[in-house]
Amino acid sequence: MPGEPCIFCDLASGKTGAPLLYQDDAVVAFSDIRPIAPTHILIVPREHHPTLLDVGPENEALLGRLLAVAAKIAKERLGDDPSCRVVINSGASAGQTVYHLHLHLLSGRHFAWPPG
Ligand code: 5GP
Ligand code: ZN
Repeated sequence: MPGEPCIFCDLASGKTGAPLLYQDDAVVAFSDIRPIAPTHILIVPREHHPTLLDVGPENEALLGRLLAVAAKIAKERLGDDPSCRVVINSGASAGQTVYHLHLHLLSGRHFAWPPG
């Protein structure tokens, strides 16, 4: 929210100086600081939405863009085995810890199903 500190707003705006792997007018991507897989990239809208459920129908296009960026990064970066898992944790019980909507793009190892 405007005025409230948010690490992903700061990362997306370039305020932290952390390197971005991808950026356009609406979306950025950067490596997760605590990767849980050989590839662990976060895909983040520049606009602050706390959770997936806070995104209204007026932002359908943004949700599409986030997935399209995940696919683009996967195709460009994952090489011979582009298998990947794309995850949104929404809410505390689902494991969300940063309340600025983001997708996890995970690859480079086997992922069990159902997830833990
Ligand atoms: P969540 O648990 O909300 O789905 O995912 C939040 C992710 O953000 C976690 O995987 C965590 O490691 C990552 N994270 C938290 N703080 C930072 C940070 O300052 N920089 C980066 N690059 N990743 C972060
Ligand atoms: Zn934010």
